[in-house]
Amino acid sequence: MAATLGAIRTLDRDMIERVVRQVTSSGRTREVSAPFTGEPLAELPLSTADDVRAAHARAREAQAAWAALPARARALPFLRLHDAILERREEILDVVQWETGKARRHAFEEVADVAGCSLYYARRAPGLLETKRRAGLFPLATKVVEARRPKGVVALVSPWNYPLSLGVTDVVPALLAGNAVVHKPDTQTALSTLWTIDLLVSLGMPREIWQVVLGDPAEIGDPLLDDADYVAFTGSTRTGRKIAEEAAKRLIGCSLELGGKNPMIVLDDADLDVAAQGALRACFTNAGQLCISIERLYVHDAVYDAFTEKFVRLVKNMKLGAGLDWDVQMGSLTSRRQLEAVGAHVDDAVAKGARVLAGGRARPDAGPLFYEPTVLADVDETMDLCREETFGPVVSLYRFSDEDEAVAKANDTVYGLNASVWTRNLPRGRALAARIKAGTVNVNEGYGAAFASYDAPMGGMKSSGLGRRHGAEGLLKYTEAQTIASQATWLGLEPLPGMAYDRYTDVVVNLLKAMKALHLK
Ligand code: NAD
Repeated sequence: MAATLGAIRTLDRDMIERVVRQVTSSGRTREVSAPFTGEPLAELPLSTADDVRAAHARAREAQAAWAALPARARALPFLRLHDAILERREEILDVVQWETGKARRHAFEEVADVAGCSLYYARRAPGLLETKRRAGLFPLATKVVEARRPKGVVALVSPWNYPLSLGVTDVVPALLAGNAVVHKPDTQTALSTLWTIDLLVSLGMPREIWQVVLGDPAEIGDPLLDDADYVAFTGSTRTGRKIAEEAAKRLIGCSLELGGKNPMIVLDDADLDVAAQGALRACFTNAGQLCISIERLYVHDAVYDAFTEKFVRLVKNMKLGAGLDWDVQMGSLTSRRQLEAVGAHVDDAVAKGARVLAGGRARPDAGPLFYEPTVLADVDETMDLCREETFGPVVSLYRFSDEDEAVAKANDTVYGLNASVWTRNLPRGRALAARIKAGTVNVNEGYGAAFASYDAPMGGMKSSGLGRRHGAEGLLKYTEAQTIASQATWLGLEPLPGMAYDRYTDVVVNLLKAMKALHLK
């Protein structure tokens, strides 16, 4: 049963009080409104720079005891999270929809992601973090282990477009690795993070290891990074560069999950009905406010007309709306800034000669921030959206005549986040995928197959980022490798008493040769 805006507001007040009240000493608050209607949604307390420093201090204090727990004990609340969030999905779906304006089916992808990714790391982290034996300098005489130590306190910044997914699934491995986290979610969409922390505390997670701070980057961005041992950022490439500069000044590591201008290639042997349906989801999930969504669609000459006809028909029939039911196929944009950015890109393209095959206008009749799913043709280099990320429900169609041309066009971008290839011939699809410079390439899917395969890394090449989430990398980036080597005293690393140094080097040389011959190195 979906909750009304009034019911969400009541829920929020209690939850905010429990989870986040300590983040503010100033009493200042910010009202956020519901994108669906523009009505007030919640009153959130804002942190000052001193509040952020205090959050770091609390996190650092809590981290030592948390890291001292066995990894299996740390994993327990996150194992429980899987079932708990699935059971309470209707409640959190409402929260996500009211704060983002997205369709319920797209909010559900976030819930499924949190359940799946938390389970993956809760099960795999203890093994991945275990101390491992490594080959020593001299067999038998040098015993070596590689241990994984937590970084300490991780600063984590998450954006508004997938607030539950990106606000939770990046924190989970950081915590499982034994860190505490100081997290700055986007203020517009902080409720889903607060809701999840509240739930996790009820499942046994110590409250202090996940600190939330809220506010403007200009005020709290620096203190957020000043006391951190590592920073994990998801957001735009522009901000990512600034974060990297700050991290470099402090010589701390960072992972950056940034923007994309993701291509999809429809080969001449693709099943066009399946590809058109797949493109619909790939381009318009969350109204295109998805870093891995498709904004450039390259279609083989031989099937261009047939594909375009099918795709455009599907797009024109999409059901838009502010409903909390499952039938709505696309919801609202989340902010006025985003609505204006989308409108500006489309207007610029149309003024310079792009053809609108579907959509192309805002839909204030559906809600203040709605924009139609839009398909453009005849897009060229003079238009801003040709190369810039729109981050909205707009896709441009282009033709190609052979695979080399398709690969060259797909790779002709500063970004390298995600790509998609459609064909009935899987080996052909995989071979083409290998030539695309993107962190994930999906064959016969738009984005979900690679993203939700948690055992494999996910992230961007080129200007789309640094580092990866998911897989072993998504956990181990939050650790320092420590090598402990114990050397037998009967084989020290210097000459025996009385042995001349040239004699010693002869012995070492012979030993090295013997070890090579015996394949001990
Ligand atoms: P943004 O870079 O403007 O802001 C992202 C977050 O960073 C916000 O919460 C903001 O408050 C915060 N921030 C900004 N400056 C900061 C600073 N100096 N210190 C600390 N925090 C700071 O991005 P946005 O427009 O809100 O998000 C959309 C962008 O995010 C798109 O480019 C999209 O592609 C990208 N994104 C990438 C991924 C990914 O996994 N690669 C996922 C989602 C979104």
